[in-house]
Amino acid sequence: MAPKGKHPLIITGKDEMRKWSRQMRSQGKTIGLVPTMGYLHQGHLSLIQEAHNHSNLIVVSIYVNPGQFSPSEDLSTYPSDFHGDMLKLKSVPGGVDAVFCPKNLYDYSNDSGEKQKSENLGSGCASGLVSCVEDKGNGHETWVRVERLEKGLCGKSRPVFFRGVATIVTKLFHIVEPDVAVFGKKDYQQWRIIQRMVRDLDFAIEIVGSEIMRDRDGLAMSSRNVHLSPEEREKALSISRALLKAKSAAKDGRVKCSELKDLAILTITKTGGRIDYAEIVDQDSLEAVTEIKSPVVFCIAAWFGKVRLIDNMEISI
Ligand code: AMP
Repeated sequence: MAPKGKHPLIITGKDEMRKWSRQMRSQGKTIGLVPTMGYLHQGHLSLIQEAHNHSNLIVVSIYVNPGQFSPSEDLSTYPSDFHGDMLKLKSVPGGVDAVFCPKNLYDYSNDSGEKQKSENLGSGCASGLVSCVEDKGNGHETWVRVERLEKGLCGKSRPVFFRGVATIVTKLFHIVEPDVAVFGKKDYQQWRIIQRMVRDLDFAIEIVGSEIMRDRDGLAMSSRNVHLSPEEREKALSISRALLKAKSAAKDGRVKCSELKDLAILTITKTGGRIDYAEIVDQDSLEAVTEIKSPVVFCIAAWFGKVRLIDNMEISI
């Protein structure tokens, strides 16, 4: 375990990353991977702490994945602060052994064995889906899809999102070759999709789901919170308030999901938040349920100004 205050090794090349992992594994060490897009906060750091419970060495990846953003989304304004991230990683209890921060995981021009010149696939890709990867055009055309789980919730308004997530996580798994990977339940659908992908494709990697970290006032921590104005941040508190209200109503015996959804939606829209979705779904299948009889998760996405936030709460009665 790296001691607190230790500088993690910074690795940018995928060959170098794989070499490091293989070397460590040959010494009998197990590796835990925490994939992130950077601009780290306590939520990310809690995943690192969780990873320490499952492996000897920790790799944190920092990579803003263009494959999960559509050209109209916020890739260009996604916040970053590499220096600040490194300071945070240095201070995390247990430390971090390596940070993998590649420049572009869709640029194959330097790969050995890549003889052909990458063609520009442009937006005319076969699937009809266009992310910032096809938009740039660099020959990448292989995507991983978790067909049913990717469709609802965030997948409805962000059709390229989970295809991009599953693909980049697959790439990271092949490059880092971890024993364990930790994902936040803040992105509940993402966590379930990665679990399913790992099961279906026989990755020998344990997937751990880690609890949501919130600010003191209940707002789920997110890198995107930095874009909220003070007024919008105040309004955004309505998401966690709405979820708590629904959870306590369910505990009081109000188990009809339409009622609970109305209650939550009203709490958010009253403040001026704009709902993308508010769905109560089964925790495993993510299928909508009409009445709470078994453990469910209430998932909400809402806009506050130009910022789209997601949050969720598990409810079992
Ligand atoms: P991101 O950098 O937003 O892609 O997130 C990287 C990882 O951190 C994902 O597994 C997220 O689910 C997780 N994460 C983000 N915010 C939180 C939070 N507030 N609590 C716990 N995990 C989080």
